[in-house]
Amino acid sequence: MTAFSFFGRESMIHHSCDRCKKLIDREHEIRYVVNLEIQVAVEPCDGEFCDESNLAELEEILKQLDHCDCDEIRSNAYQCRQYDLCADCRNEYLADPFASERQPEFGFSDN
Ligand SMILES: [Zn+2]
Repeated sequence: MTAFSFFGRESMIHHSCDRCKKLIDREHEIRYVVNLEIQVAVEPCDGEFCDESNLAELEEILKQLDHCDCDEIRSNAYQCRQYDLCADCRNEYLADPFASERQPEFGFSDN
């Protein structure tokens, strides 16, 4: 067991960061997973039968979607994605989930 096995490493499943595309080395780096779930929002109800109304509204939306065979609308109603992130991107993602391009430079300096 003195020789380092590159073949063993090559056969491992590699994950790459979905944000910066960097390969995530499982032995030295932590891989983070972002579960992104986007669904149609049901407006909050301040009436007496709040829960029931909400449920009814949700059912109505789902019913409409059932009647409609349009995959696009269905997929717009609910989306679930999973992304891999490296440690750096995890921090950046948390700081700015929407990656706003208008974000001003903060003047980071190496000096
Ligand atoms: Zn990354």
